[in-house]
Amino acid sequence: MLKPLQEWICDTCGKTITSADDGYVIWRHDIDQRDFDFKIIHKFVCEPPSFPSSVPLGEFLGSKGSTYLLSFISLGKIKARGRYRNYCHVLDFDEFVDLYRRVQIPYYEEARKKFNNPALLAEMEDASELHPYQEDVLKQIIEKY
Ligand SMILES: [Zn+2]
Repeated sequence: MLKPLQEWICDTCGKTITSADDGYVIWRHDIDQRDFDFKIIHKFVCEPPSFPSSVPLGEFLGSKGSTYLLSFISLGKIKARGRYRNYCHVLDFDEFVDLYRRVQIPYYEEARKKFNNPALLAEMEDASELHPYQEDVLKQIIEKY
């Protein structure tokens, strides 16, 4: 069992990252500098050479991390003016929100391993868009599947 928001599964080797200090978040850009292919990996040892951006995992945690993540999708009231209104450099929102949940929502990382379970998918078919990602539901997913 992973310690929530303290341990992660490396997207390269599949083993546990046991401390935020050992992790990096990496991603790529398209030709318009829009971000996609977000991954959490062991720093250095599991870093693929083709990823131009890498930032220590710790930068994405807590309220400081939430602030950082939000800066990817909006420049906010101070900076989002003129041509920078609705400026966003995320290309793949599903990937980005997956990353957001991995570093901000307790039990998401552990439950995420079960997200392809057919019985789970069947159970969640009629659930709201919010329901599956609530902390208590994620805990139930870990216990049940
Ligand atoms: Zn690794």
